[in-house]
Amino acid sequence: MNKQLSNDLSSMEAILEQVTQHGLEYLQNIHAHSTSTEAVPEVFEGLQQEGIGAIEALKRFNARWAPVLVAASGPRYWGFVTGGTTPAAIAGDWLTTVYDQNTQAAKGYGDISAALELETIRLLLALLELPENFLGGFVTGATMSNFTCLAVARQWLGSQAGLNIARDGISDELNILTATPHSSSIKSLALLGIGSANILSIKTGDGNRESIDISDLENRIRQLNGQPFLLISSAGTVNTADFDDFPAIAALKNRYHFWWHIDAAFGGFAILSDRHRHLLKGWEQADSITVDCHKWLNVPYENAVFFIKEQHRLLQVITFQNSNAPYLGDPLENFNYLNLLPENSRRLKALPVWLSLNAYGRKGYQSVIRNCILLAERFGAFIARTARLRLMAPVRLNTVCFTLAGANNYPHKVSAFLSALNKTGKVFMSPTLYKGQPGIRAAFVNFRTTEKDIAIAEQLILEILEQTKDA
Ligand SMILES: *Cc1c(COP(=O)(O)O)cnc(C)c1O
Repeated sequence: MNKQLSNDLSSMEAILEQVTQHGLEYLQNIHAHSTSTEAVPEVFEGLQQEGIGAIEALKRFNARWAPVLVAASGPRYWGFVTGGTTPAAIAGDWLTTVYDQNTQAAKGYGDISAALELETIRLLLALLELPENFLGGFVTGATMSNFTCLAVARQWLGSQAGLNIARDGISDELNILTATPHSSSIKSLALLGIGSANILSIKTGDGNRESIDISDLENRIRQLNGQPFLLISSAGTVNTADFDDFPAIAALKNRYHFWWHIDAAFGGFAILSDRHRHLLKGWEQADSITVDCHKWLNVPYENAVFFIKEQHRLLQVITFQNSNAPYLGDPLENFNYLNLLPENSRRLKALPVWLSLNAYGRKGYQSVIRNCILLAERFGAFIARTARLRLMAPVRLNTVCFTLAGANNYPHKVSAFLSALNKTGKVFMSPTLYKGQPGIRAAFVNFRTTEKDIAIAEQLILEILEQTKDA
């Protein structure tokens, strides 16, 4: 064995001890750690012939990279839709690495970790109050979850015309209907060879909505003259957390022939808020659902699940079967994840979720979700009462979409304001375009965030507004 490797193997305790100390220091001071950085560390050593061993390599990381990494899982990182990491989830993620399972088969084939994954899926279905007639699996993010669901939907669309797309490729036009899809669904359609030109855009509802206008949807459906189609709907749009009208879509599903996909990357967790659970009424009737775990479930990246109705299992296997590996047995007889999703070898992503759900239960997550929503409402109220700011949409769930008053006339001022705010390193938000106008999004997804953090951000915003008063 190489000298450095064998030294490290016998210094395992010292290495892990050092990582624990380093990790603790970071996590215990995360509220003070910067939320933004511009510096990319210099002095790139390149690959050396002789390694320096893990302890020295850690020193190198601590000197160069650790100081410039941002506090993305801290309480004031409100950009994108960024969750935190619960203690149990961190423990699960570490152990996932320690055990290093290749999660594929539920039994036999040298590994049992897929059984833990299936058990975790049942915990998630219970948390989200979804029926057990969904088959789920873990992927890296909501993008891959959308991809997985849409791949099976594509197979379904083909099968309605007697085609096997996985085998023969795309040969015909496919009808995709949607109003405000997340960019990752468009990306998935592109990867699946469907192409965004096949999307028929549905109008959004009246009154500052991003959700599907149901009568426009029905008109479009009628124009298809009975051709099957795929509907991509949203439980929580990224800008304003708008939800499509699921009971109305469910009613349409009784009358027309389509695959119903819901992107519920973060919005699915609205089920845990008594004031918001009605937004998900009827969602269990969808054919497929995307849910991100590295957002509101507060487990580390990369973690998301897909749920696809069990009745589509055969289509799913035809789509993803790893069929040239005879040693893996019949894909329908033997439960093996590599026949049910895009990836083959995968780490045991379920473990952080399993540990966190066991550690905090439904009540723990209810409190996380309710707290985030209350904080969004509080921050939204601050925006609404601040004369130089304007809410772009009501606070529907956990995101606040706002801009500078009069921003239409001075779009550059919005980005100048946001970069001044982000440069403080004390809070981070992301820029957006909403209905063609430049805006700013703050998303509340982290269990650590408290009213104190909102107060800090409010103070900073007022200071920057004051500094730029006459600019
Ligand atoms: C974040 C998000 C995605 C993409 O998720 P990744 O985890 O970044 O792959 C898709 N849809 C919605 C609604 C999202 O919020």
